Amino acid sequence: MTDRYALFGNPVGHSKSPRIHTLFAKQTGQDLSYEAILAPDDGFAAAVTAFVANGKGPARGANVTVPFKEEAFRLATKLTSRAEAAGAVNTLSFDAGAVIGDNTDGAGLVRDLKTNLGCDPAGRRILLLGAGGAARGVILPLLLENPAELLIANRTEETAARLALEFGRLPGCAVAVKPDGTGFPGLAGRSFDLVINATSAGLDNAVLPLPTSVFAPRCVAYEMVYGRETAFMAQARTAGARVADGLGMLVEQAAEAFFVWRGVRPHTAPVLAALKSAS
Ligand code: NDP
Repeated sequence: MTDRYALFGNPVGHSKSPRIHTLFAKQTGQDLSYEAILAPDDGFAAAVTAFVANGKGPARGANVTVPFKEEAFRLATKLTSRAEAAGAVNTLSFDAGAVIGDNTDGAGLVRDLKTNLGCDPAGRRILLLGAGGAARGVILPLLLENPAELLIANRTEETAARLALEFGRLPGCAVAVKPDGTGFPGLAGRSFDLVINATSAGLDNAVLPLPTSVFAPRCVAYEMVYGRETAFMAQARTAGARVADGLGMLVEQAAEAFFVWRGVRPHTAPVLAALKSAS
């Protein structure tokens, strides 16, 4: 019997996850199927229950995307520590009645930075733009890499301040650096070695009010949105930064989920190359 996996989201039509996981399965010789399921806004839990109950093979796991990551967090009967810290779940595993919630977004970003882009967060001054679900998912993994500094800047300053406070006092977490939070005006005169855009501004090409000074010489600018040149990428290029989009993070978070489910780590480079050549 073929093990079954799915992605739940709304919308999901554009998703590259079925292609990514099918390529991983082929490469590693794993017998599994992976489909994208469009869940109604008020029907996430019911869609997951139906997926688990119906189908030819056993349902083993699922990925979760916008807008259901917080709901998946509440649906899980057990949480990994990184999902707990993120307050959001993008990976579910179904195991003898238990629903285990995990979050692989942060691991995906860190792996893309270190392995694919040669940009080790250790010792870098990091600016994280945004304080939504994507930002929450990457803060702890970034802090665990021992950056020199982590500043969270958000349009709504209070949300950034609240996140910084929350992640500054995570119990049981031996992180050397405490994050700080600010609004965009607080960036005046500041410089960073790694600037990560975790806002959704790129989706409607809104320009972030960033002073050019934020991009230090040899800065890496990382845009989590992928598949388009955003205003942030253009700003960073003009300032002389090295620019990357979020396609690598997408593939790496998928590889981490695949590892969680199957215990096998796929090679991501050929999959990333296949996606790039198709776009
Ligand atoms: P949320 O809706 O949870 O958060 C959106 C964030 O963007 C908030 O901080 C919001 O600020 C800010 N924002 C939105 N519009 C603007 C604007 N015009 N100017 C300034 N700030 C703005 O979204 P997520 O955190 O879930 O996702 C953020 C982005 O990350 C999405 O584009 C998503 O596609 C991408 N992503 C990519 C992944 C990948 O694998 N590559 C994985 C996960 C996410 P405020 O608080 O003021 O509203």
